Amino acid sequence: MTQIRLSPSRVSEFNNCPRLYKYRVIELLPEPPSIDAERGTLIHTILEDLFDLPAPERTLDSATTMAPSRWADQVNQKPELSTLVLNEKEWLDRVGALLKNYFILEKPESFDATHREMHLEQDLTNEIYLHGYVDRIDVAPTGEVRIVDYKSGKSPKPGWEEKALFQLRVYALLYWRLHGVIPSLLVLHYLSDARSVRSSPNEKELLSTERKLLQIADEIIEAIAKDHFPPKPSKLCDWCFFKTICPAYN
Ligand code: SF4
Repeated sequence: MTQIRLSPSRVSEFNNCPRLYKYRVIELLPEPPSIDAERGTLIHTILEDLFDLPAPERTLDSATTMAPSRWADQVNQKPELSTLVLNEKEWLDRVGALLKNYFILEKPESFDATHREMHLEQDLTNEIYLHGYVDRIDVAPTGEVRIVDYKSGKSPKPGWEEKALFQLRVYALLYWRLHGVIPSLLVLHYLSDARSVRSSPNEKELLSTERKLLQIADEIIEAIAKDHFPPKPSKLCDWCFFKTICPAYN
């Protein structure tokens, strides 16, 4: 059989709704751009480019100044975005507010990023290829590794942090497998409400993450073999582009 490609987002997608996974991953149905996803892309580009500047210049002012040109580049690459954002000033003001919150959470002038948008990949088994793009990895002179991810939305409600950390534990598992070092800290920065979720992973947690991945991969392989992707209605349906063709609503 052909190898399946897994990433944390694909795994969450299948977990949240197998039908949505089918539409996106198996049938590759097109979707219109989402304003939240495009805002997230812009924020990620700015924060990636910020670390190209000399440390003293990594200020909120520099980041805010970058926003119009990075947005223009994004629109050039996807012209349909010009109809998605009608009030550019309002859009850039919102981006500026998220950047302001980023500077509450971190002081980028005080450290260097070792890797940005780093692609980690590995064959988990002969049937499963696992990969992901990590926003930032910082390696301290003492060798400690910190994995950082930026989210443009709000932090999870109390009790939901573990679910939110799954993505970073997958990255930590990949980093450990590839470099032989367990990252000492995982950090999710939520820019909408200026809160961070942190966790120090250990071997037991990462092995448990690996078992979970293998279990979900088995479920995906079985779903593909049987062409069985049941819809799983939830509050996510309100934002799902495929609601009009989903059997749960038709
Ligand atoms: S509408 Fe809901 S149940 Fe249907 S595919 Fe979308 S998320 Fe799944």
